[in-house]
Parts: sequence; C-alpha cells; structure tokens
Amino acid sequence: MKNQVAEQTLFGHPKGLFYLFFAELWERFSFYGMRALLMLYMTQYLMYDDKMSFGIFAAYGSLVYVTPLIGGIVADKILGYKKSIILGGILMAAGHFILTIEHPITFYSALALLIVGNGFFKPNISSFVGSLYQKGDERRDSGFMIFYMGVNIGGWIAPLLCGWLGITYGWHYGFGLAGIGMLFGLFVFNRAIKKGVFGKKGEVANKKLYEQRFAGIKTGQLVTIGAILMIPIMALIVKFNEFEHYLVWLVSFGIITILFVIFKQATKTERGQLGVLIYFTILACLFFIVFEQAGSSLTLFAERNVDLRGINASQSNSLNSFYIILLAIPFTWLWTYLSRTHKNPSSPFKMGLGLVLVGLGFLTFGYSSNYMNDTAQVPMLFLIAGIFIYTLGELFLSPIGLSKVTELSPKKFISFLMGVWFLASFYGHFFAGKIAQLTTIVEGEESIFTKGIFANLTPKITGLDYQEIQSMGEAHLQLYSYVSVFTGIGLVTFFIGLLAILIVPFIKKFMGGVK
Ligand code: GLN
Repeated sequence: MKNQVAEQTLFGHPKGLFYLFFAELWERFSFYGMRALLMLYMTQYLMYDDKMSFGIFAAYGSLVYVTPLIGGIVADKILGYKKSIILGGILMAAGHFILTIEHPITFYSALALLIVGNGFFKPNISSFVGSLYQKGDERRDSGFMIFYMGVNIGGWIAPLLCGWLGITYGWHYGFGLAGIGMLFGLFVFNRAIKKGVFGKKGEVANKKLYEQRFAGIKTGQLVTIGAILMIPIMALIVKFNEFEHYLVWLVSFGIITILFVIFKQATKTERGQLGVLIYFTILACLFFIVFEQAGSSLTLFAERNVDLRGINASQSNSLNSFYIILLAIPFTWLWTYLSRTHKNPSSPFKMGLGLVLVGLGFLTFGYSSNYMNDTAQVPMLFLIAGIFIYTLGELFLSPIGLSKVTELSPKKFISFLMGVWFLASFYGHFFAGKIAQLTTIVEGEESIFTKGIFANLTPKITGLDYQEIQSMGEAHLQLYSYVSVFTGIGLVTFFIGLLAILIVPFIKKFMGGVK
C-alpha cells in the first residue's frame, strides 16, 4: 500500500514533491519572516547601533549557510533525510519561539538555534527532492523549479505578514508567527511520512551506526546532543562576529581537505563530475556576492537615489520573489518543452547565462544614472527592470544548481555536496558585505571601480565623471558611489559568465553524460 502511494504522481511529478514544496514553503516563511524583522528589532528594540546590527545580520546571514555542511554529512552518514529534516525543523521552531522572549541572551541563543537548525533542514530537504527522480529523469530540473517556487512564495508573503504583525502589534507576535510557520512545515512533512508518500526514501542512512552505543548513548541521540552543543558556539560567533573571517579560512581549509579525500576515493567519472560541481559552486559564489547586494546596498540605493512611486525601499526587496512566483511555471514548461524537443541547453550553459544576467541586471542599475534628475534620483523603471533581469539569472542558476548537485554527486555524498553548494551563499553573504561597504562615500576618494581596468568602461556606462560629481553635493556623490560599484561588479560577472558559456563544450566532457 505504502509503495503504491510513493509511486503516485501529480501534475506529472512524484507526489512527494508537493509535500516537500509545502514543507519548504513554510520553513522559508519562517526564515524570511524573521529576517524581515531582525534589523529593525536590533536597532529599535535592543538599541544596538547600526554597525553592530550590520555585523550580527551579516554573521547570521552567512552562518545559516555554513552549517548545511555538517547537516549534510550527518544525513549522508547517519540520520538520512527524514530524521535530519525533523531535527532541523524542531531546532528552528524552538529558535523562533525563543526569539519571542525579548532579551539579549535569548536573542543570541535563538539565532544560534536557527543557524544549527537550518543546517539540518535546508540541504536535506533539497537533496530529498532530488531523490524523487532517477538519474537522467528529464523532469528533475522542472521539479526543482516547482520547489523553488515554494521557497519564494514563503519568502514573499512572510515579510509582509510577520513584518506587519511585528511592527504593528509587537515584535513577539511577528517572531511567533514565524515559529507557527515552521510548525506548519513540520506538520506537512510529518504527514507526508505518515502517508508513505516517500516510500523507503530518506530512511536512516546507516542503521548499524545509528543504533550503536557510545558510553551507553545511541549515535542517533549523540547527534542531537552534538547539535545542542553547537548552539553556544554559534551564539559566540554571532556575538563576536568581527572574528568571522577566521571561520572563513577554517571552512575553506576544511572543505579543501575533505574534497581531496572524496576525490581520492572516487572513480574517474565521479572525479570529473565532482570537479564540475565545484566549478558550479564557484560560479554560484560569484552570483551570490552580487545578488546579496539586494538586502544591503541596493536597498539603500533604492531609498536614497531612486525616485520611488507607490512602494518603499524595503518593499522593493519582495519584487525578486514575486518575479520568481510569476516565472517559475513558465520556466517549468520551457524546460519540459525543450527536453521533449531535445533542445534543452546544458546546465553549464544555464549557469553561465545566470551569471551574464545578474551582470546585466546590475549594469542596468549602473546605467540608470544617465537619467538622474536634479536631486540625484533615477527613474524607478531601472530598479524594476534590473531586478527582473537578475531574477531571470537566479532562475537559470539557483534551481538548476540544486538539481545538478543531486545528479552529479556520488550517492553517498549527496547531502554533504549540497552543503558545499550552499557555501556559495556563505561566501556570498560574507563578501557581499565587503562589497557593500565600498558604496559608502569616503571624502576625496574615487571609487575603486572607476580606476585601473575599470577606468574607461565604468564612467562610460554610468555617464558620471568623478571630478564633476564632486562639486555637485552629497546626494550626487552617493549616487556615483552606488552606480560605480554596481557597474564594476556587473561587468565582472557579465564577462565571467560569457567565459563560462564559451567553455561549455570543455566542461561537458567531465559530466559523464549528465546534462
Ligand atoms: N532564496 C533561495 C532560498 O532561500 C536561495 C538560497 C540560496 O541558495 N542561497 O532557498
């Protein structure tokens, strides 16, 4: 009976996909709902200054994407997907509810719970989607596209609802609603397990090891204890975030060592595929460094230098999710149609195109200054169009990347390599913060993106000359610093994307038949 349920399909996809869709929708609801309140809660309730709040926000934003490495290994080697996702979900729900107690101590503990919980939840639910499809199944990419739509429905409505509740009625209501969202996610997931929609997929990875006792405690329980012990460590890193760069070094060193070990054990085809995965992750890193400007420098650009009509600067952030919800279904049709007619472009091509598009999106912001008015504001159309273009890029790169991780990884390392993929966001957030800092005006100093190799191109695109702009006042200088940085990073990603497209035939050789 249960096997029959596991084989049922809905809209041509395994039924399990739709349960994972809703579980992830609710988890992302909680994640983005809480994130929408975080900066305001720190600056307005905890009374942290801007610098400290930015530091905490960036540390939290990046750390949630480093724990998937550990959550991935644990799922591959011991727990399997189902137990990992439930453990992660419980930790995250606890984090959200603890946040409703408004105090600095509970604040750091809650962030740490969310960081550790996400590590168990996010990579494993993504790998679980992949496990619903056989190798070579043409539906895989469109399945991930549907899943990604769930991510963004959650990401779109949560800031509106939690933000409104938190600001109008009190912080704890907003955080509480995020927690309820996470409980919904857990409920949907649990129901799917009970109904048997996943069949035998996602069970404990190593039953013998799971049951084995150390000092009288089962390994399965030791994992939970380990997760709880990680909480104070994460809380300390968030608090003392000025030392986070040591973690960046440590992770980089650790990851290179582990990948080296996996390489040694792998067959020749697997080595090629692993190489391609690492290459994809590096492209994704570049993508996210640029993309993650959205929450920081791009929002400030919108606030200060865009002639906004009908929306405020923070609302411009939800445009990205809105576009994805709008485009996900047409994209799913596109992939299905192109696969049927054997015209579906290869994944290295799509990844390259993703980078080209994020580059073009930021070049659109850069170009906007050609149309500035007397108060150094640019028409809103550029903001709307640029976000649309980089969202197209995201759709070519992010869901395709998830899909390929599940197809290119050796089976026993899938979740770990999913964790490696999410490192793109860890590095992305970290370096995005550094780039965003370059948009602050330093008296008498030209942008680094209008010097050296950028000296000719950037001013041509932005239409701004530093000497002239200096005499025009603060607002103009601020616009100059935004558009110069956006143009600079836009150019870099655009050209690297083009290069990635040029070398597609070479990359395909290492993919062992995977498209
Ligand atoms: N917005 C996506 C999500 O929340 C992208 C995350 C990522 O890969 N960094 O899943």
